[in-house]
Amino acid sequence: MTGGTVFVYKEEYLKYHFGPLHPFRPEREKYTFEKLQKLGIVDKCSNFFEPDSATEEDLLLVHSGRYVDFVKRMSEMGTGYLDYGDTPATKGIYEGSCARVGGSLTCAKLVMGRKFAHAFNPGGGLHHAAQDHAAGFCVFNDVAITARFLQREYDLRRIAIIDTDGHHGDGTQETFYREPILTISFHREGIYPGTGYPEEIGEEGGKGYSVNVPLPAGTTDDAYLFAFKEIVPPLLQAYKPEIVIHQFGVDGYFRDPLVGLGLTTNAYQHMAMRMHELTHELCMGRYIILGGGGYSPPDVCRCWTIMFATIDEVPVERFKDLCDEPRPCEGIPQRVKDVVEEVKNLIFPFHGLESRS
Ligand SMILES: [Zn+2]
Ligand SMILES: [Zn+2]
Repeated sequence: MTGGTVFVYKEEYLKYHFGPLHPFRPEREKYTFEKLQKLGIVDKCSNFFEPDSATEEDLLLVHSGRYVDFVKRMSEMGTGYLDYGDTPATKGIYEGSCARVGGSLTCAKLVMGRKFAHAFNPGGGLHHAAQDHAAGFCVFNDVAITARFLQREYDLRRIAIIDTDGHHGDGTQETFYREPILTISFHREGIYPGTGYPEEIGEEGGKGYSVNVPLPAGTTDDAYLFAFKEIVPPLLQAYKPEIVIHQFGVDGYFRDPLVGLGLTTNAYQHMAMRMHELTHELCMGRYIILGGGGYSPPDVCRCWTIMFATIDEVPVERFKDLCDEPRPCEGIPQRVKDVVEEVKNLIFPFHGLESRS
């Protein structure tokens, strides 16, 4: 069996929480699971999988032993912060984190074992966490750990990581900055974490493999998809990935309280459709989708449900009630055209691509 999409989830994800007043709501994943079951798109007996938690050894693929010990200790105490004030240390946060990282590793095993072509872990996508510290609500970087796991267990060399969260995927970028692992991040310019400029193209053997597309506040579906279409398909076609990992944070949604991009469900639906096609075209459909940001829980649930249904090729009629009305096209802002041009000029020559279309 090599088709279909599996939903990877377990209740222990809920231990990954930062208290009742924190914007990160871990129930988002549970709601999405329930919604997909209600629509008959996910069925516990056929396309659902409960993952094992990650082991300490898994965490050490990316993180330092010192940092892992620190998180363990803070998790037992359950007070204070894991970083400088965004990511509180709550009781059980270590176990909750390991559950979520385990979900992403399970996606890798299911896809590589050809049980399913595509796998979604809504609890993953914790892309800000770095080797030796937490950041931006992210404790352990499951995106980077999964890529390292694919290198070690399956000897994969060409792993593409697409990050369409509203924030820059800085922890992931940093992990692979000197290696030819293709990381592409679309994000809003000028907000947390303050990195992700087009000039950050990688170093040494990684030069040309770190791709950053910062977009202005209010960027709408058309402009976003223009940038996506100009950059992602040509780079993936040139790179020829063996697998694609997609951090599918949905805090670029127009109602999201933290980011300020202007996307509707239509952008996410289209992006899911296009990425799904590209993975079938380029890497036998091997496609791991991870969650990420999203701070308006009902909208997160809708966006992820639409994404999952689209990748699973569910007829649109079955979920169209969840979709936003398409907005009239307002033309592509010059600033978006400029940043796309800049990214192409900086990156495309490394991949034998013409930067002018
Ligand atoms: Zn497929
Ligand atoms: Zn985010």
